[in-house]
Amino acid sequence: MIIGVPKEIYPGERRVALVPMVVPNLVKAGFTVRLQTGAGVEAGYPDAFYVEKGAAIAPDRASIFRDAEIVAQVLCYGSNDVTGKTDLPLMRRSQVLIGFLRPLGSVEILQEIAGTGITSFSVELMPRTTRAQSMDALSSMGTICGYKAVLIAADTLPRIFPMLTTAAGTVTPARIFVIGAGVAGLQAIATARRLGAVVSAYDMRPAAKEQVQSLGGRFVELPIEAKNAQDARGYGTAQDESFYAKQRELLARVIADSDVVVTTAVVPGKKAPVLITADMVKAMAPGSVIFDLAAERGGNCELSRAGETVIEHGVTILGAINVASKVPYHASQMYARNLTAFLLNLVKDGEVRPDTEDEIIHETLLTRGGEIVNARVREFFKLPELAAVR
Ligand code: NAD
Repeated sequence: MIIGVPKEIYPGERRVALVPMVVPNLVKAGFTVRLQTGAGVEAGYPDAFYVEKGAAIAPDRASIFRDAEIVAQVLCYGSNDVTGKTDLPLMRRSQVLIGFLRPLGSVEILQEIAGTGITSFSVELMPRTTRAQSMDALSSMGTICGYKAVLIAADTLPRIFPMLTTAAGTVTPARIFVIGAGVAGLQAIATARRLGAVVSAYDMRPAAKEQVQSLGGRFVELPIEAKNAQDARGYGTAQDESFYAKQRELLARVIADSDVVVTTAVVPGKKAPVLITADMVKAMAPGSVIFDLAAERGGNCELSRAGETVIEHGVTILGAINVASKVPYHASQMYARNLTAFLLNLVKDGEVRPDTEDEIIHETLLTRGGEIVNARVREFFKLPELAAVR
């Protein structure tokens, strides 16, 4: 069974879906890995490294889609809404596609993908079980984003992070505030702590408190309680506007006192809540930095613009998108390990098993036989139930 790895085509994307290190494992399991020439170069993996590990190189994208039974991508059409459409005519009915497909994004795009007949699996739909942990690409990329956001913020801040006692006197440490202590937020806390900053964090899920504290952060408690703060999958839930208004009011003071604010507050399938208004930005000291990791999802800061750096009231608001791609070597390595674990579970005795009762497989299965078949996605878009879907 051939796994094809095309070069990523989202503008500026530097990751690759499989790295040389995972090839021997896949070959041992009976797969052939075929890479579009140059697909790994920007992540630090030239063609020769793949060949050394037993992969073959194909000259172009069309031949990858023509020959592969399974196509492995990072950003497929769906999450790549800029250039991804060019892959549609290449997709085949008998083929399997795996990658980020943004399953709660645009139903029209999902229908276009389904229309090709391809069997697609969306890594975003991975269940949050112990068994699926090794396949959890969202967490892998969240880890990278949290780390990199703090490094970029540190580089942008006109202060240093740690406390220093020098012959020229003492320098006070930077104060970092992280809003949303999920995977990205927790990694931001850990990274800022390693750099010597004084870190505090807030999340509407009370369960986050212990995790923040275990990383040496101070947990900011607000005297408001979210309704059913956490869903069955462990994700934060959407709240009404009056809750967000109260949050903004209560967060204003902490934000004004922070040198760097990193925001990661998102809810699956929803626009990110605005937690920092323009007035709150104005109250920050000049030179402060906000890294809005939710910019791609509408932004936690009223002033952030997706993909751009904005300076307002002397505060730099970083709205970079696709941050994981800025650390392409390790982002690709982690993603490739996630995909490899998924592939080894998906294919048994040389056959893809989309019909299985395995929850990892049926929860990630997005399109098949011309239809969007995922029950959660159909429910989200209020599509009629498919009798055949579990
Ligand atoms: P996420 O990326 O969905 O969201 C980031 C964080 O923002 C979440 O912690 C969420 O509670 C928070 N948030 C949303 N709205 C907010 C608001 N208005 N105010 C404050 N905070 C808000 O989160 P995530 O990285 O997916 O992590 C969510 C939880 O799931 C964490 O506890 C994480 O450890 C857990 N998790 C478990 C597994 C697993 O069991 N395999 C895998 C990944 C994550």
